[in-house]
Amino acid sequence: MAEKNVTGSENSKARMLAGECLCRAVRYTVADAFEYALNCHCSNCRRTTGSAFKPFAGIASDRLSIIAGADNVMIHGDAKASHDVHCISCGSLLYSIVRNGAYAHVAMGTLVGAPSIRPRAHIFVGSKAPWFTITDDLPQYQGHITAKE
Ligand SMILES: [Zn+2]
Ligand SMILES: [Zn+2]
Repeated sequence: MAEKNVTGSENSKARMLAGECLCRAVRYTVADAFEYALNCHCSNCRRTTGSAFKPFAGIASDRLSIIAGADNVMIHGDAKASHDVHCISCGSLLYSIVRNGAYAHVAMGTLVGAPSIRPRAHIFVGSKAPWFTITDDLPQYQGHITAKE
């Protein structure tokens, strides 16, 4: 499933979404076929975004590609495994590569258009910033989503 698709034919049915950093030096495209989307309140996500939480959407990493500024990214973490991808000029977190490279967690705030998916839960609420109150009715998990959704 995660193997590289050179022709792109396998992905041709999905609508493509664009994403970009604050200074627009780095641009990417990703299929509008996210498998999940969550709001993560863990301390790492709070710090890397400077926000109360990070809305992110997950997809197989081969369905995302950088189309401009590939030489302008800064990798934080293990480049061969899990890492965050930032623009080196403006610092925006664009996406994270997780699960040993298999999946990309797109920072939803960098998407230009609206994806079909919406965040469906809050995770790592146990690490939530005390000054922020969750005011929606989405399910809340103290850590990762476990067992059933
Ligand atoms: Zn930038
Ligand atoms: Zn997190």
